[in-house]
Amino acid sequence: MTEKSKLETQTLKTDWPEALAHCELCPRRCGVNRAAGETGYCRSGPTAQIFRYGAHQGEEPPLTGARGSGAVFFSRCTLRCRYCQNYPWSQQGEGEIYSVAELAGIFRELYAAGCHNWNLVSPTPWLPMISAALAQVRAAGLDLPVVYNTSGFERLETLRALENLVDVYLTDLRYTGEDAAHRGSDAAEYVKTARAALREMWRQVGPLRVNAEGLAVRGVITRVLILPGLAAEACASLEWLAREIGPAATVSVMAQYTPAHRARDSSPWNRAITRAEYDAVARTVERLGFTEGWIQDFGAGRSSGLAGFKMAPVKKQARLQRCSTAGRPAA
Ligand code: SF4
Repeated sequence: MTEKSKLETQTLKTDWPEALAHCELCPRRCGVNRAAGETGYCRSGPTAQIFRYGAHQGEEPPLTGARGSGAVFFSRCTLRCRYCQNYPWSQQGEGEIYSVAELAGIFRELYAAGCHNWNLVSPTPWLPMISAALAQVRAAGLDLPVVYNTSGFERLETLRALENLVDVYLTDLRYTGEDAAHRGSDAAEYVKTARAALREMWRQVGPLRVNAEGLAVRGVITRVLILPGLAAEACASLEWLAREIGPAATVSVMAQYTPAHRARDSSPWNRAITRAEYDAVARTVERLGFTEGWIQDFGAGRSSGLAGFKMAPVKKQARLQRCSTAGRPAA
Protein backbone atom coordinates (compact mmCIF):
# COMPACT_ATOMS: atom_id res chain seq x y z
CA MET A 1 0.00 0.00 0.00
CA THR A 2 1.39 3.41 -0.93
CA GLU A 3 1.62 6.11 1.68
CA LYS A 4 -1.07 8.13 -0.09
CA SER A 5 -3.57 5.29 -0.32
CA LYS A 6 -2.90 4.37 3.30
CA LEU A 7 -3.77 7.90 4.36
CA GLU A 8 -6.93 7.83 2.30
CA THR A 9 -8.19 4.67 3.95
CA GLN A 10 -7.25 6.02 7.38
CA THR A 11 -9.52 9.02 7.01
CA LEU A 12 -13.01 8.37 8.31
CA LYS A 13 -15.27 7.78 5.34
CA THR A 14 -18.10 9.55 7.13
CA ASP A 15 -17.61 13.03 5.68
CA TRP A 16 -16.84 15.87 7.98
CA PRO A 17 -18.61 18.29 8.47
CA GLU A 18 -21.43 16.21 6.96
CA ALA A 19 -21.36 13.88 9.95
CA LEU A 20 -21.89 16.83 12.30
CA ALA A 21 -24.64 18.43 10.20
CA HIS A 22 -26.82 15.37 10.80
CA CYS A 23 -25.18 13.44 13.61
CA GLU A 24 -25.81 9.72 13.54
CA LEU A 25 -22.38 8.66 14.71
CA CYS A 26 -23.69 6.44 17.50
CA PRO A 27 -26.75 4.21 17.88
CA ARG A 28 -28.78 7.09 19.34
CA ARG A 29 -28.92 8.56 15.81
CA CYS A 30 -30.11 11.95 17.06
CA GLY A 31 -29.88 13.56 13.61
CA VAL A 32 -29.07 16.96 15.13
CA ASN A 33 -27.03 19.63 13.39
CA ARG A 34 -24.08 19.94 15.74
CA ALA A 35 -22.29 22.21 13.31
CA ALA A 36 -25.13 24.70 13.79
CA GLY A 37 -25.10 24.50 17.56
CA GLU A 38 -27.76 21.82 18.11
CA THR A 39 -26.94 19.13 20.62
CA GLY A 40 -28.16 15.57 20.88
CA TYR A 41 -28.24 13.01 23.66
CA CYS A 42 -24.51 13.26 24.38
CA ARG A 43 -24.52 17.08 24.30
CA SER A 44 -21.37 17.13 22.16
CA GLY A 45 -20.70 20.33 20.26
CA PRO A 46 -19.03 21.14 16.96
CA THR A 47 -15.43 21.07 18.23
CA ALA A 48 -13.55 18.30 20.04
CA GLN A 49 -13.65 18.48 23.82
CA ILE A 50 -11.05 16.77 25.98
CA PHE A 51 -10.82 16.41 29.75
CA ARG A 52 -7.22 15.26 29.96
CA TYR A 53 -4.51 13.37 28.13
CA GLY A 54 -1.17 11.79 28.94
CA ALA A 55 0.85 8.61 29.42
CA HIS A 56 -1.61 6.34 31.22
CA GLN A 57 -0.28 3.50 33.36
CA GLY A 58 -3.61 1.88 34.19
CA GLU A 59 -4.54 -0.04 31.06
CA GLU A 60 -3.99 -3.73 30.33
CA PRO A 61 -0.28 -4.65 30.19
CA PRO A 62 0.13 -4.86 26.37
CA LEU A 63 -1.26 -1.33 26.15
CA THR A 64 0.56 0.23 29.09
CA GLY A 65 4.00 -1.32 28.48
CA ALA A 66 6.93 0.45 30.12
CA ARG A 67 6.19 3.99 28.96
CA GLY A 68 2.43 4.15 29.18
CA SER A 69 -0.56 4.24 26.89
CA GLY A 70 -1.09 7.60 25.19
CA ALA A 71 -4.60 8.16 26.51
CA VAL A 72 -6.87 10.98 25.41
CA PHE A 73 -9.93 11.22 27.65
CA PHE A 74 -12.64 12.82 25.55
CA SER A 75 -15.51 14.70 27.18
CA ARG A 76 -19.14 13.58 26.72
CA CYS A 77 -20.47 10.06 26.23
CA THR A 78 -23.21 8.25 24.37
CA LEU A 79 -24.25 6.40 27.55
CA ARG A 80 -25.36 7.78 30.92
CA CYS A 81 -24.20 5.12 33.35
CA ARG A 82 -25.50 5.73 36.84
CA TYR A 83 -22.21 4.41 38.28
CA CYS A 84 -19.84 6.33 35.98
CA GLN A 85 -16.58 7.26 37.69
CA ASN A 86 -15.87 9.74 34.89
CA TYR A 87 -19.18 11.60 35.19
CA PRO A 88 -17.66 15.09 35.67
CA TRP A 89 -16.48 15.02 32.06
CA SER A 90 -18.56 12.22 30.50
CA GLN A 91 -21.94 13.52 31.69
CA GLN A 92 -21.37 16.98 33.13
CA GLY A 93 -19.19 18.20 30.29
CA GLU A 94 -15.95 19.24 31.96
CA GLY A 95 -13.07 19.64 29.53
CA GLU A 96 -11.43 22.06 27.14
CA ILE A 97 -12.16 22.71 23.46
CA TYR A 98 -9.48 21.62 20.96
CA SER A 99 -9.26 22.33 17.25
CA VAL A 100 -8.21 19.55 14.87
CA ALA A 101 -4.72 21.08 14.69
CA GLU A 102 -4.53 21.15 18.50
CA LEU A 103 -5.72 17.54 18.70
CA ALA A 104 -2.99 16.60 16.22
CA GLY A 105 -0.60 18.41 18.56
CA ILE A 106 -1.75 16.17 21.42
CA PHE A 107 -1.05 13.07 19.33
CA ARG A 108 2.41 14.45 18.54
CA GLU A 109 3.07 15.12 22.24
CA LEU A 110 2.08 11.58 23.20
CA TYR A 111 4.30 10.20 20.46
CA ALA A 112 7.24 12.34 21.61
CA ALA A 113 6.67 11.16 25.20
CA GLY A 114 7.31 7.59 24.04
CA CYS A 115 3.77 6.31 24.57
CA HIS A 116 3.13 2.94 22.96
CA ASN A 117 -0.17 3.84 21.31
CA TRP A 118 -2.79 6.52 20.83
CA ASN A 119 -5.59 5.46 23.16
CA LEU A 120 -8.89 7.16 22.32
CA VAL A 121 -11.11 6.98 25.40
CA SER A 122 -14.84 7.33 24.59
CA PRO A 123 -14.12 8.81 21.15
CA THR A 124 -17.39 8.23 19.28
CA PRO A 125 -18.89 11.76 19.15
CA TRP A 126 -15.54 13.14 18.01
CA LEU A 127 -14.57 10.68 15.28
CA PRO A 128 -14.50 13.14 12.37
CA MET A 129 -12.08 15.41 14.23
CA ILE A 130 -9.99 12.47 15.44
CA SER A 131 -9.76 11.05 11.94
CA ALA A 132 -8.62 14.39 10.54
CA ALA A 133 -6.05 14.88 13.32
CA LEU A 134 -4.62 11.39 12.86
CA ALA A 135 -4.32 12.02 9.13
CA GLN A 136 -2.28 15.14 9.91
CA VAL A 137 0.21 13.40 12.20
CA ARG A 138 0.55 10.42 9.89
CA ALA A 139 1.19 12.73 6.95
CA ALA A 140 4.08 14.04 9.04
CA GLY A 141 5.47 10.51 9.30
CA LEU A 142 4.39 9.66 12.87
CA ASP A 143 2.63 6.39 13.54
CA LEU A 144 1.44 4.42 16.55
CA PRO A 145 -1.27 1.78 16.99
CA VAL A 146 -4.67 3.39 17.46
CA VAL A 147 -6.64 1.98 20.40
CA TYR A 148 -10.41 2.48 20.28
CA ASN A 149 -11.46 2.46 23.93
CA THR A 150 -15.24 2.13 24.04
CA SER A 151 -18.24 1.05 26.09
CA GLY A 152 -19.19 -1.15 23.12
CA PHE A 153 -22.29 0.96 22.39
CA GLU A 154 -21.37 1.58 18.77
CA ARG A 155 -23.20 1.85 15.48
CA LEU A 156 -22.16 -0.72 12.88
CA GLU A 157 -21.97 1.80 10.03
CA THR A 158 -19.61 3.97 12.08
CA LEU A 159 -17.41 1.02 12.96
CA ARG A 160 -17.21 0.02 9.31
CA ALA A 161 -15.99 3.53 8.50
CA LEU A 162 -13.18 2.96 11.01
CA GLU A 163 -11.76 -0.05 9.19
CA ASN A 164 -8.01 0.48 8.68
CA LEU A 165 -8.05 3.42 11.08
CA VAL A 166 -8.24 1.41 14.31
CA ASP A 167 -5.65 -1.22 15.25
CA VAL A 168 -6.87 -2.35 18.68
CA TYR A 169 -10.44 -2.37 19.91
CA LEU A 170 -10.73 -2.22 23.71
CA THR A 171 -14.42 -2.80 24.21
CA ASP A 172 -16.93 -3.78 26.89
CA LEU A 173 -19.64 -6.38 27.35
CA ARG A 174 -21.62 -4.95 30.27
CA TYR A 175 -25.06 -6.55 30.37
CA THR A 176 -27.13 -9.39 28.96
CA GLY A 177 -30.56 -8.06 29.91
CA GLU A 178 -32.35 -5.03 28.52
CA ASP A 179 -33.68 -4.09 31.94
CA ALA A 180 -30.23 -3.92 33.52
CA ALA A 181 -28.87 -2.04 30.50
CA HIS A 182 -31.68 0.47 30.82
CA ARG A 183 -31.31 0.92 34.57
CA GLY A 184 -27.53 0.95 34.51
CA SER A 185 -26.73 2.91 31.36
CA ASP A 186 -29.98 4.29 29.93
CA ALA A 187 -29.55 2.06 26.88
CA ALA A 188 -31.97 -0.88 26.77
CA GLU A 189 -30.67 -1.78 23.32
CA TYR A 190 -27.09 -2.03 24.62
CA VAL A 191 -26.90 -5.82 24.56
CA LYS A 192 -27.69 -6.45 20.92
CA THR A 193 -25.78 -3.32 19.90
CA ALA A 194 -22.58 -4.19 21.78
CA ARG A 195 -22.66 -7.78 20.60
CA ALA A 196 -23.07 -6.78 16.95
CA ALA A 197 -20.30 -4.22 17.42
CA LEU A 198 -17.96 -6.81 18.88
CA ARG A 199 -18.55 -9.15 15.95
CA GLU A 200 -17.65 -6.31 13.57
CA MET A 201 -14.54 -5.42 15.56
CA TRP A 202 -13.45 -9.05 15.47
CA ARG A 203 -14.03 -9.18 11.72
CA GLN A 204 -11.79 -6.16 11.27
CA VAL A 205 -8.84 -6.94 13.54
CA GLY A 206 -9.30 -10.45 15.02
CA PRO A 207 -7.41 -11.85 17.99
CA LEU A 208 -4.94 -9.78 19.99
CA ARG A 209 -1.45 -9.74 18.52
CA VAL A 210 1.60 -8.38 20.31
CA ASN A 211 5.08 -7.50 19.08
CA ALA A 212 8.41 -8.80 20.38
CA GLU A 213 8.16 -6.40 23.32
CA GLY A 214 4.74 -7.75 24.26
CA LEU A 215 2.96 -4.59 23.13
CA ALA A 216 -0.42 -4.76 21.42
CA VAL A 217 -0.30 -4.06 17.69
CA ARG A 218 -3.70 -5.34 16.55
CA GLY A 219 -6.79 -7.15 17.82
CA VAL A 220 -9.70 -7.05 20.23
CA ILE A 221 -9.61 -6.97 24.03
CA THR A 222 -13.02 -7.47 25.65
CA ARG A 223 -13.63 -6.07 29.11
CA VAL A 224 -16.28 -7.67 31.29
CA LEU A 225 -17.15 -5.49 34.26
CA ILE A 226 -18.61 -7.27 37.28
CA LEU A 227 -21.52 -5.13 38.48
CA PRO A 228 -23.20 -5.59 41.89
CA GLY A 229 -26.15 -7.94 41.63
CA LEU A 230 -25.30 -8.70 38.01
CA ALA A 231 -22.54 -11.30 38.25
CA ALA A 232 -24.82 -13.74 36.44
CA GLU A 233 -24.96 -11.29 33.52
CA ALA A 234 -21.15 -11.05 33.49
CA CYS A 235 -21.02 -14.87 33.34
CA ALA A 236 -23.58 -14.89 30.53
CA SER A 237 -21.52 -12.33 28.61
CA LEU A 238 -18.49 -14.58 28.94
CA GLU A 239 -20.54 -17.53 27.72
CA TRP A 240 -21.68 -15.50 24.71
CA LEU A 241 -18.09 -14.50 23.99
CA ALA A 242 -16.88 -18.10 24.19
CA ARG A 243 -19.69 -19.25 21.93
CA GLU A 244 -19.45 -16.47 19.34
CA ILE A 245 -15.72 -15.80 19.23
CA GLY A 246 -14.18 -18.73 21.10
CA PRO A 247 -11.38 -19.08 23.63
CA ALA A 248 -9.03 -17.11 21.36
CA ALA A 249 -10.78 -13.99 22.61
CA THR A 250 -8.69 -11.92 25.02
CA VAL A 251 -10.74 -11.07 28.12
CA SER A 252 -10.18 -8.51 30.83
CA VAL A 253 -12.42 -9.12 33.81
CA MET A 254 -12.80 -5.96 35.86
CA ALA A 255 -13.62 -6.18 39.55
CA GLN A 256 -13.01 -2.54 40.44
CA TYR A 257 -16.64 -1.44 40.63
CA THR A 258 -17.06 1.36 43.15
CA PRO A 259 -20.39 3.17 43.65
CA ALA A 260 -20.05 6.61 42.10
CA HIS A 261 -22.30 9.34 40.76
CA ARG A 262 -25.99 8.28 40.92
CA ALA A 263 -25.10 4.73 42.00
CA ARG A 264 -24.93 5.91 45.59
CA ASP A 265 -28.70 6.46 45.66
CA SER A 266 -30.08 3.04 44.75
CA SER A 267 -29.65 -0.66 45.37
CA PRO A 268 -27.81 -2.78 44.26
CA TRP A 269 -25.65 -0.13 42.59
CA ASN A 270 -24.70 1.42 45.95
CA ARG A 271 -22.41 -1.39 47.07
CA ALA A 272 -19.19 -3.05 45.99
CA ILE A 273 -19.29 -6.51 44.45
CA THR A 274 -19.15 -9.43 46.88
CA ARG A 275 -16.55 -12.16 47.07
CA ALA A 276 -19.17 -14.69 45.95
CA GLU A 277 -19.97 -12.60 42.85
CA TYR A 278 -16.28 -12.30 42.04
CA ASP A 279 -15.66 -16.01 42.48
CA ALA A 280 -18.61 -16.93 40.26
CA VAL A 281 -17.20 -14.88 37.38
CA ALA A 282 -13.63 -16.10 37.91
CA ARG A 283 -14.83 -19.72 37.89
CA THR A 284 -16.74 -19.07 34.67
CA VAL A 285 -13.62 -17.72 32.96
CA GLU A 286 -11.78 -20.91 33.84
CA ARG A 287 -14.67 -23.22 32.97
CA LEU A 288 -15.05 -21.68 29.52
CA GLY A 289 -11.37 -22.22 28.77
CA PHE A 290 -10.24 -18.64 28.14
CA THR A 291 -6.47 -18.51 28.27
CA GLU A 292 -5.69 -14.97 27.13
CA GLY A 293 -6.30 -11.98 29.36
CA TRP A 294 -6.53 -10.82 32.94
CA ILE A 295 -8.73 -10.92 36.01
CA GLN A 296 -8.48 -8.04 38.46
CA ASP A 297 -7.86 -8.94 42.07
CA PHE A 298 -10.91 -8.94 44.30
CA GLY A 299 -11.20 -5.60 46.08
CA ALA A 300 -9.21 -3.73 43.45
CA GLY A 301 -11.67 -0.86 43.32
CA ARG A 302 -11.76 -0.32 47.05
CA SER A 303 -8.01 -0.27 47.56
CA SER A 304 -6.38 2.07 45.14
CA GLY A 305 -8.72 3.48 42.54
CA LEU A 306 -6.96 3.70 39.21
CA ALA A 307 -3.48 2.41 39.89
CA GLY A 308 -1.71 0.26 37.35
CA PHE A 309 -1.72 -3.47 36.96
CA LYS A 310 0.05 -5.73 39.41
CA MET A 311 -0.02 -9.17 37.93
CA ALA A 312 0.40 -12.69 39.15
CA PRO A 313 -0.08 -15.69 36.88
CA VAL A 314 -3.13 -17.82 37.43
CA LYS A 315 -1.93 -20.88 35.59
CA LYS A 316 1.52 -21.76 34.37
CA GLN A 317 0.36 -22.99 31.02
CA ALA A 318 -1.92 -20.06 30.30
CA ARG A 319 -1.43 -16.36 29.76
CA LEU A 320 -4.55 -15.49 31.72
CA GLN A 321 -3.39 -13.45 34.68
CA ARG A 322 -4.75 -11.70 37.72
CA CYS A 323 -4.09 -8.04 38.28
CA SER A 324 -4.87 -5.29 40.73
CA THR A 325 -6.74 -2.50 38.95
CA ALA A 326 -7.49 -1.55 35.37
CA GLY A 327 -7.64 1.48 33.15
CA ARG A 328 -10.84 3.03 31.89
CA PRO A 329 -13.06 3.44 34.91
CA ALA A 330 -16.51 1.97 34.77
CA ALA A 331 -18.02 4.48 32.41
S1 SF4 B 1 -22.83 11.12 18.91
FE1 SF4 B 1 -24.16 12.32 20.29
S2 SF4 B 1 -25.35 13.68 18.94
FE2 SF4 B 1 -24.42 12.08 17.64
S3 SF4 B 1 -25.98 10.48 17.47
FE3 SF4 B 1 -24.71 9.93 19.22
S4 SF4 B 1 -25.67 10.85 21.05
FE4 SF4 B 1 -26.56 11.82 19.22
